Amino acid sequence: MALTLEHINTAPVAEAAAQLDGLYEHSPWIAEAALAQRPFRSLPHLKHAMARIVHDAGCEAQLALIRAHPELAGKAMVSQALTAESTNEQNKAGLANCSPQEFEKIQAFNAAYTAKFGFPFILAVRGPRGTGLLRQEIIATFERRLANHPDFELAESLRNIHRIVELRLNDKFGVEPRLGHQVWDWQEELGAFSDPGYKEQGQLTVTYLTDAHRAAAGMIERTMLGSGFDEVNIDAVGNVVGRYKARPHPSPLPEGEGEREGEGVKTLMTGSHYDTVRNGGKYDGRLGIFTPIACVGELARTGTRLPFHFEVIAFAEEEGQRYKATFLGSGALIGQFNPAWMDQKDADGISMREAMQHAGLPATLEAIRALQRQPSDYLGFVEVHIEQGPVLNELDIPLGIVTSINGGVRYVCEVSGMASHAGTTPMNRRRDAAVAVAELALYVEQRAARDGDSVGTIGILNVPGGSINVVPGRCQFTLDLRAPNDAQRDALVSDVLAKLDAICERRGVAHTVEETMRAAAAPSAPDWQQRWESAVDSLGVPLYRMPSGAGHDAMKLHEVMPQAMLFVRGQNSGISHNPLESTTSDDIELAVQAFQHLLNQLATEH
Ligand SMILES: [Zn+2]
Repeated sequence: MALTLEHINTAPVAEAAAQLDGLYEHSPWIAEAALAQRPFRSLPHLKHAMARIVHDAGCEAQLALIRAHPELAGKAMVSQALTAESTNEQNKAGLANCSPQEFEKIQAFNAAYTAKFGFPFILAVRGPRGTGLLRQEIIATFERRLANHPDFELAESLRNIHRIVELRLNDKFGVEPRLGHQVWDWQEELGAFSDPGYKEQGQLTVTYLTDAHRAAAGMIERTMLGSGFDEVNIDAVGNVVGRYKARPHPSPLPEGEGEREGEGVKTLMTGSHYDTVRNGGKYDGRLGIFTPIACVGELARTGTRLPFHFEVIAFAEEEGQRYKATFLGSGALIGQFNPAWMDQKDADGISMREAMQHAGLPATLEAIRALQRQPSDYLGFVEVHIEQGPVLNELDIPLGIVTSINGGVRYVCEVSGMASHAGTTPMNRRRDAAVAVAELALYVEQRAARDGDSVGTIGILNVPGGSINVVPGRCQFTLDLRAPNDAQRDALVSDVLAKLDAICERRGVAHTVEETMRAAAAPSAPDWQQRWESAVDSLGVPLYRMPSGAGHDAMKLHEVMPQAMLFVRGQNSGISHNPLESTTSDDIELAVQAFQHLLNQLATEH
């Protein structure tokens, strides 16, 4: 019989500890220590408590824990000396059926890994969905992680151990993240559509209005219809719009004229984008589409209606890849569509108008203008998004509350000094353009860090026509400066530009600065942020508040209605805009549950 949390919370310590035995390989002390924190509010609460015990136990204990694990497909597996849990996991991953070449490769990696790090390679071989990674995936991950820095790899090993424990706990408690799996499977299905040239290489690229993009829209449309939405349509810019109608409210009209359907009833809007960057990840944007679709699926399945309409929108364009028209999908809903975009051509010379016609869209400005929403019809906008950063992954926290989407400014700059002979120009007589920029780069790093949550990057640093024996006469560079509110960003910008002036003055070099982008910060609406917080808290998951460093569709809706976002932890240090972008069906399940909680709470407020 499956274990219950109630039992763990109430049984004598020794008995509860015995029930949790085998979670952490040969390390019962972790569960025992965590039990001091009873009662646990949820399984994720228990998981997090044990992860904190490991975190606080220090390096020696962590190494001992890692070393208590068997090598992957190693001697222990061959001699059948693994624990029951490990045997099950390694078998599920098909490691017992390695070809001789694969087996040899893994043995060579094992030897190189142990030599470099001093502990065995640990991987949660059951993977993000719990059904097992492919052998090729395991081998590729092994090879990639061999190149990691030792400190990082130690932390990555612990994260994999916590993931193994999460899956073992699910087994023990008979828990399955059913909705998380559902969303995970939809993500896979959608991930199969990719633009030509990328699909053949197994890469995911879906840019605006390509055939793959339209096929993706079709799949989202079918998924919405299959989940019980009342109306689904593809609008004039290619957004897939699904509506789940409010429960009809009693009519004030005379009897016999029926109920007025939804008149005066407001709408909650949610959604995110389904286009991708080139060779991108499967979750960026898409997680914010399928998570609410799963919520509607549950509402429809249980015959539940909300007192407000629920509109889920899969935005057609956010990334600005095929055309320079970033946020086209969400922008159209707030009446922002630059007519000049229609004549913009892609790399193959196809105009946006032609692409729209090819996709069967009306391709007229009138039809696009008609998409503009009336903000007074809406309660607000919420968006779920994968974090796209390492923070939640490092803290072992599955969900994050977004406090603000950072405002940013970008500049393209150039410093010009004097190109001169590298051998004959004494150090005190140089006007080195690159060193001036290097000095600025160090300042940007230190100045942004001082705020705690500002970020500053010099992403391009280029010496045009430079040569090994010439003091750089020119240096072109970019500046990207972001902060959670506009005042903080402006203070950062003014300090950085003042520093650039001072450096150039002192070094006797000139500079130019051209502003290329300025976006206002989008702080979360306090009441909506609060709804996410109570949703996350209801799951027994620790609250973690953070700004969003990346821009999102919510920034656009922010201009006309209140908004707030929820972040979901990414695996692989939260890497994004990269095929390694990943999250688990357990974390997705929590996101679905948080969203359900938010809908329920909003329903009781009405
Ligand atoms: Zn995105």
